[in-house]
Amino acid sequence: MNEYMTRVMEIVKKRNEGETEFIQSVEEVFKSLEVVIDAHPEYEKASLLERIVEPERVIHFRVPWIDDEGKVQVNRGYRVQFNNAIGPYKGGLRFQHNVYLGIMKFLAFEQTFKNSLTGLPIGGAKGGSDFDPTGKSDFEIMRFCQSFMTELYRHIGADIDVPAGDIGVGAREIGFLYGQYKRITGQYESGVITGKGISYGGSFVRPEATGYGAVYYVNEVLRHFGEEIEGKTFAISGYGNVAWGVASKVAQLGGKVVTLSDMTGYVYDEEGVTTQEKIDYMLELRANTSSTIKDYADKFGVPFFPGEKPWGVKVDIAMPCATQNEVTMEDAKKIVDAGIKFYAEVSNMSTDNKALEYLQNNCLAVCPSKAVNAGGVAVSALEMTQDSIRYSWTAEKVDKKLHQIMVNIYNESVRAAEAYGLGYDLVAGANIAGFEKVANAMMAYGIV
Ligand code: NDP
Repeated sequence: MNEYMTRVMEIVKKRNEGETEFIQSVEEVFKSLEVVIDAHPEYEKASLLERIVEPERVIHFRVPWIDDEGKVQVNRGYRVQFNNAIGPYKGGLRFQHNVYLGIMKFLAFEQTFKNSLTGLPIGGAKGGSDFDPTGKSDFEIMRFCQSFMTELYRHIGADIDVPAGDIGVGAREIGFLYGQYKRITGQYESGVITGKGISYGGSFVRPEATGYGAVYYVNEVLRHFGEEIEGKTFAISGYGNVAWGVASKVAQLGGKVVTLSDMTGYVYDEEGVTTQEKIDYMLELRANTSSTIKDYADKFGVPFFPGEKPWGVKVDIAMPCATQNEVTMEDAKKIVDAGIKFYAEVSNMSTDNKALEYLQNNCLAVCPSKAVNAGGVAVSALEMTQDSIRYSWTAEKVDKKLHQIMVNIYNESVRAAEAYGLGYDLVAGANIAGFEKVANAMMAYGIV
């Protein structure tokens, strides 16, 4: 990092003390940007980096709700509107016990560059709550979502900020959230939230989009090396929405996912998660808040490895699909020792920065989350378009657009890294390409 960037990084560390994920994500992006900042001295004069690391707005609110025993519970709600230089704020809502401001800020910062990479006009945001849906009844989840939206509704809008799902927020929660928004405002403003059900303004292929998009991206990487998905084996983590989309598309293209996991351990399915029954069972497991991945092992008679992660398994491609920092240096070494040549992050910031560097030095290709998982938000933006024209495209049409967007993201990342003399560096390329567009727009607006 050059002197200017080091100075800004010091400010980030001081201002955001204790928010380790946010500091980590700024460091990761900055590492790629030195060549760009060196080539644009006007950015320092305009304090562009100082502005780009500061969220435009942080909303922090109380979420009181009543549980099934009639007891009042109180959670914390957040919405971080990070950057709207190129479009309305856009990013998911996460309901998970460990949510705090640092996680919201890192996700919103990442989202800014990811959304830019899609080539679509969307800014970056993220929100959520430390509410833990595990073991909660449908009515508890509904009451929580209604209370959450009772505050959030005043901060969002189709041209202002458009939330969506993330960990712990799927179709059921989006339904409850939008239902409450509609009730409070008295308007059918379907473009205010994405991930909706098909019967009320959702887009075909949105549930699958992040996983499908990730596999389309990996397909481009393999093509670069003269390879293809057919016949390849994949180790993935998680068994949630994203993992389901990955397993399903890999199976369609003739590959096989052989591991799934959660916090309790992983399963190894040598035959692969390839049949419709297994893929549908993943959805069943996710919908049931008291299931664990061991249920998959019990149902299909495959081994379960308690307390372990799937990263020592010998496969062709590793794709973490669960959560941030799930791949540490120890895991990265196992991946390299297993002879895995291709590594693609699907969960946001799956890898800690040291492990990422190690993988970059030892794998043929390392693909960063902000490019690989951008298909989800890209289809969300397509959902916004369909809402605004009051029309619904077919699944085939949306899938085709998603595929093209992922090819474009890959090509843009390759181009950006090459343009700055960095060679085939997909991590730097994604950061640079995402940054360029946001930086150009911010410079055009003057000091705002
Ligand atoms: P889900 O809640 O559907 O699934 C998350 C999965 O990860 C679950 O199987 C969960 O298991 C597991 N998991 C969570 N925490 C841990 C942990 N600490 N260790 C091991 N496993 C864990 O979320 P999504 O699939 O939607 O999201 C997964 C990742 O992808 C997140 O990083 C998210 O931000 C990112 N992403 C998602 C997009 C989307 O469209 N959904 C778009 C772009 C990125 P359990 O339920 O048992 O905790």
